[in-house]
Amino acid sequence: MIIDLRSDTVTVPTQEMKNAMFNAKVGDDVFEDDETVINLEALGASMFGKEAGIYCPSGTMTNQIAIKLNSNSPGELICDELSHVYKYEGGGIGFNSGLATKLIKGDAGRLTASQIEAAINPDDVHFPESQIVSLENTCNKGGGTIYNIEEIKKIKALCSDKKLKLHLDGARIFNAIVEADYSAKDIGAEFDTISVCLSKGLGAPVGSLLLGTKTDIKKARRIRKIFGGGMRQAGYIAAAGIYALENNIERLREDHHKAKELGNVLENLSFVKKVLPVYTNIVVFEVIDSIDFNTIIAKLADKHIKVVAFGHQQIRLVTHLNFTDEMLSKTIETLKGLK
Ligand SMILES: *Cc1c(COP(=O)(O)O)cnc(C)c1O
Repeated sequence: MIIDLRSDTVTVPTQEMKNAMFNAKVGDDVFEDDETVINLEALGASMFGKEAGIYCPSGTMTNQIAIKLNSNSPGELICDELSHVYKYEGGGIGFNSGLATKLIKGDAGRLTASQIEAAINPDDVHFPESQIVSLENTCNKGGGTIYNIEEIKKIKALCSDKKLKLHLDGARIFNAIVEADYSAKDIGAEFDTISVCLSKGLGAPVGSLLLGTKTDIKKARRIRKIFGGGMRQAGYIAAAGIYALENNIERLREDHHKAKELGNVLENLSFVKKVLPVYTNIVVFEVIDSIDFNTIIAKLADKHIKVVAFGHQQIRLVTHLNFTDEMLSKTIETLKGLK
């Protein structure tokens, strides 16, 4: 038994999901002829109360398309320093959209309206024009942190007032929604564009949705083609996305529960210096100074448990739908026995 806790992207489709994929009705989606893709886009949009959606190969692509359509180079994007759009998308903000980036140090990936207000450039030719704010909920590098809806509303009001676009990197938005006191529609009301990953905790093999107004999504379709993301009989994979949205949201709580259990066990182990608070399905812990954290990663790999380094002396474990109760017991037993 191999236990893969490197990411919630490692999930493979269940038999039920495969059946949905196998039976999908497909067509050429570049001609907008694939009814399964059309249904997925409509389902995602309606869940968040948005007018339209577009299915893309990856979350990086939905974010990068959103940044492109919400900006006009030269200009500047404002985000937290831990943001995926900045850290893990290959410099795409500059490469694809020709924007500068203003980084803010938030609270484990979460910004406040007043921090953003202070980061908006004055109308002065020396400075790039502030054009777009990007938030991430949950924040991966922050350890799966969840935004408070009151703060999001304040940020939205500020952006409307200052004529800035507001994008949500919602790769793991459903991990936030099942824990927080807000719904997908509440979130949809606050953002111009929303990116949602189907291939993370929701368990689809491929794909992300970008949601927004009809006008914005029409623009997005043009940009997706330029980025090389126009797909043909994509209904086969889109069917997995529909299955995921219909069946795999509520069960995210099980992943969160398992993550909390792992966090509690780690708290009491001699090689652990500290465990970051566990908010959703991401557990990050720091190894004591006297032990090189790479040796812990290697020892776990020897016991067929895969985890990843997450910064200096930090290790990340991510729970997901292929991480069973049996695997949880085995992981706990292995962690406790680690010498
Ligand atoms: C995974 C992820 C993405 C998109 O990743 P892809 O691998 O391109 O699908 C975007 N934002 C966050 C926060 C993520 O964790």
